[in-house]
Amino acid sequence: EEKLKRINESIRAFPDFPTKGILFRDICPILKDPKSLTAVIDLFEEYVRQNHQDVELLVGLDARGFLFGPLLAQRLGIGFSLVRKRGKLPGPTVSVAYDLEYSKAEAEIQEDAVAPGQKVLVIDDLLATGGTLNAACALMKKQQANVMGCLVVIEIKDLHGADKIKPHSVFSLVQY
Ligand code: 5GP
Repeated sequence: EEKLKRINESIRAFPDFPTKGILFRDICPILKDPKSLTAVIDLFEEYVRQNHQDVELLVGLDARGFLFGPLLAQRLGIGFSLVRKRGKLPGPTVSVAYDLEYSKAEAEIQEDAVAPGQKVLVIDDLLATGGTLNAACALMKKQQANVMGCLVVIEIKDLHGADKIKPHSVFSLVQY
């Protein structure tokens, strides 16, 4: 379809970034092209309205989940909470350690970012090994939130990240 074509045309690949052997998918052109960005939010909105009408909160990942999350949350009329790299958020926080495709990290939320029992969707730009989204889901579990699923613009199928975040589902717009 038209919207997916526009999004596909706005994703660039850079070999050996940030380290040798990684083919980095750059989403910056999506943000530079208002039609692509609108297409991303339109398709996410359509999916959520059809599959998760009762979602109460969108949780976005540092840093590129922050680019799409608030736009989608506003469309859906729900709030947005941030999962950040450790040490960035003030006040009482909860954190989990995890492995990235090419490094280690710790993900953190403010203790009151999500309420027990709240129905949440988690959003990021890209699913690779699934370590990042899995950490976000673990944080949600720690806070007794109810993860309904994950949303990403891009899914790197070869890395089987979707298996790692099971039983949670992943919805992706573009797959490689
Ligand atoms: P994972 O934890 O699934 O291995 O890696 C996904 C995380 O790393 C996401 O937060 C994503 O932003 C970042 N990431 C890893 N590889 C890429 C890539 O090729 N392109 C972009 N845009 N982000 C990536």
